[in-house]
Amino acid sequence: MANSLLSPSTLPFELPDFAHLSDADFREAIERGMSEQLEELDAVATDTEPATVENVLEAWERTGRTLTRALHAFWVAKAADTNDERDAIEADMAPRLAAHADAILLDTRLYGRLTELDVRRKAGEVELDEQDTFCLSERLREYERGGIHLDDEAQTRLRELNETLATLSTTFEKLLVAGRNAGAVHVTDESHLDGLSDSDKAGAAQAARTAGVEGWLIELTNTTQQPPASVLHHRPTRQRVHEAGVTRGLGGEHDTRSTLLDIVRVSGERARLLGFAHHAAYAAEDGCAGSTEAVSEILGRLGPATYDLMRTQAEAWQRRLEQIEPGATVEPWDVTYLSELISAEEKSLDGAALRPYLEFDRVLVDGVFAAAEGLYGITFHRRLDLVGYTAESRVYEVREADGSVLGAAVLDPYTRSTKQGGAWMTAIVDQNELLGQGPVVSNTCNFNPPVGDSPSLLSWDNVITLFHEFGHDLHGLLSKVRYPSRSGTAVSRDFVEFPSQVNEIWAYELIDRYARHHETGEPMPAAWVETLRSGSREAFKYAELLSAMILDQAWYQAPEDQLPTDVDGVEAFEAAALERGGVDFALVPPRYRTTYFAHAFGGGYSARYYSYLWSEIFDADTVAWFHDHGGLTRENGQRFRERLLGRGGSIESTQAYREFRGSDPDLSHLLRRIGV
Ligand SMILES: [Zn+2]
Repeated sequence: MANSLLSPSTLPFELPDFAHLSDADFREAIERGMSEQLEELDAVATDTEPATVENVLEAWERTGRTLTRALHAFWVAKAADTNDERDAIEADMAPRLAAHADAILLDTRLYGRLTELDVRRKAGEVELDEQDTFCLSERLREYERGGIHLDDEAQTRLRELNETLATLSTTFEKLLVAGRNAGAVHVTDESHLDGLSDSDKAGAAQAARTAGVEGWLIELTNTTQQPPASVLHHRPTRQRVHEAGVTRGLGGEHDTRSTLLDIVRVSGERARLLGFAHHAAYAAEDGCAGSTEAVSEILGRLGPATYDLMRTQAEAWQRRLEQIEPGATVEPWDVTYLSELISAEEKSLDGAALRPYLEFDRVLVDGVFAAAEGLYGITFHRRLDLVGYTAESRVYEVREADGSVLGAAVLDPYTRSTKQGGAWMTAIVDQNELLGQGPVVSNTCNFNPPVGDSPSLLSWDNVITLFHEFGHDLHGLLSKVRYPSRSGTAVSRDFVEFPSQVNEIWAYELIDRYARHHETGEPMPAAWVETLRSGSREAFKYAELLSAMILDQAWYQAPEDQLPTDVDGVEAFEAAALERGGVDFALVPPRYRTTYFAHAFGGGYSARYYSYLWSEIFDADTVAWFHDHGGLTRENGQRFRERLLGRGGSIESTQAYREFRGSDPDLSHLLRRIGV
């Protein structure tokens, strides 16, 4: 069978023909795609005509189509359904893709064409509209940040560092996944699982069967807090689960420390080579925050403030534990358990009792899809004739209010052993006017699958995750830009979480519509709904997020001579960083500790983990705007769609924001939300 990735897909929406793709096809298409793009760019570089929008910007955007197609298809399939061969392709390709990017970004001929166009623009010889101008400025900036001005010797070193970093990140991720799997907690006495919901217990039994052991296996999630620890009544089991989580990567077969230390050092050297004080400064310059000072200032204000709140709450945790186990002292593995317990007693809200009211398909259709229709007029129609990257992934056709077809959305909701942890959105086809392509997005989550006759029942966190990821989908689906490289979510890291965070508010607003008992159809009790709405944001969540952000900055702001010289220094560095940041409190460790901090060391969020907070400044301000303007209405949605979501990365994000909001965001909305 011919490799269908080597030419544009003939399936509807240009959906890759996943059903007939072999792993060898991915490898071949990525390799072919790289060499093809270099040849295509060579033609752009050697064009002797005066530089124009057509022969520079547009010609550029037409290159690399095979590579883009292959990589989009590969990443989505690899992340959601990996195997040894896909892991090997990723490991092999990481340094080669880094080298490919360098071959482009260190090509002075291409840079020359961009600068020539810029000179002609300034001289009034060519006319560039807003999108052209921004696209050109982004390309120039990419070159300047990519080392085009360095001498040959420095460029040679830069290439080495980029390749090394790509391999190190892949190694870190791989160790992390293996460590997480190996850390699963084995339980043989059923009474030790008291408190766990039936569906979670069934999941644990299934995991044990898959692993070939008796009893139950509690699998670890990416974060420090393990959800089962918030419900397990048996204290020693809570402790085991918690400790399995926080000791990941710390010694043993899956020790991540030497890899992450190398990542920090190499990132630092690269930043200095490029003229920055450290990697954090290099990262911040690329975003809306602009500088490390701006990032540190806000983390320095909010971090200690949220930890002060935590220290006050600790007294209540201690009092409640005393009632259960006189003489006991609260430990980190008790905290979420006690918080849930206190909240259940004070607010008569029991997390486990919510689930029967949160059936996945109902939340999806009457919540997520209904919000999108109410705001943007778009509707979702299942296409049973099309398959996503696995048999279980669903494909929806997305239509505009007038019935015309907008694009497609792939949805892969349930957990699978070959899937990465967490939830994410990826683009499969980037919307763009230049090549006439419509958007295809994919949404991958890790919810409990239906078991027998019982449907998939979500936790409240799952509901928020679904709305969040769908917010990214909408950013991709509603994109209306000219160039593929500026499509949808192609905005800076510290802005990209904003549309998805905004979409979370509809989970609260529409709860009356979708939260119905899956057997009786009864609506969720009003008191619970009220509690969910009022306690939607918890100080605990912010505290652990902020300390992780402070930790990420600390690693990437540290001067070379203050980094640990060997793996034994990693924990001490972490402790000192948390203390300096005013967020050292053993009962509330960071959301990720250093040794399993995938955002910081596994890829895109190194020194950029603060982005979630930065995006939330825009988010809280936007939510206030929606509330002030009547909430979920077509008119409000249309304004947000046209002025913000639709712009993708085709203009500067802060400018798009001002056009939508009429002003810069007001920080006070976020401060109120956090409660400080
Ligand atoms: Zn997100």
